[in-house]
Amino acid sequence: MADQRRAAAILSTNSKWVNGTVLHYCFFTGGHFSVPKTQADAVRGSFAKWKAIGIGLDFQEVSQLSEAEVRIGYSTSDGSSASSVGRDVLTISLNEPTTVYGWDLTTPYGSGTALHELGHVMGMEHEHQNPFAGIKWHEQEVYDSLAKPPNGWDHETTFHNILEKLTPQQVQGSAWDPDSIMEYEFEPRLIDEPEQYDTNGLTPPGTLSAADKQWP
Ligand SMILES: [Zn+2]
Repeated sequence: MADQRRAAAILSTNSKWVNGTVLHYCFFTGGHFSVPKTQADAVRGSFAKWKAIGIGLDFQEVSQLSEAEVRIGYSTSDGSSASSVGRDVLTISLNEPTTVYGWDLTTPYGSGTALHELGHVMGMEHEHQNPFAGIKWHEQEVYDSLAKPPNGWDHETTFHNILEKLTPQQVQGSAWDPDSIMEYEFEPRLIDEPEQYDTNGLTPPGTLSAADKQWP
């Protein structure tokens, strides 16, 4: 497991898919989570980008939600994008989405979101929660910032998605990749250390980084 190429991406090893798994995915076509065709096409494009880098998973679209491990919904009224991580999708009941998008995926930022949530589907966690990142937060400022629109996150959501460190056992490798698609954008004054991010904020490119492309 000490393969250097595995250094950067972070994942819950207990929720990792077995190499060679075919993940079936399906879009909601009616009801609250109905996915417009343009948005579904953006997600299809993101599946293709992940697949093109030669990951050990395959993706196959199916037309029945009940036949899909990965059930994708869209709701701008909910306005949040989130996904279960890796095999955790199997714990979600078959009539519910495992992955929801809450904003337009056809913009450059949205394209990053589409890739990010599929990273979770594949088993990847947030890079800023990598215990090896060495990030010290201005915690109150983080809670305050995420509580504001457009996020409106409560204390627990912010802790779970940002401040909570994963354990070393949940991580493969020992390096942090600030350019990862699994890294968030942070405004200045949220990260205390490393100092450069306190001053300048952190703006990942929103595309698959070199290390993302070597996952897992
Ligand atoms: Zn995420």
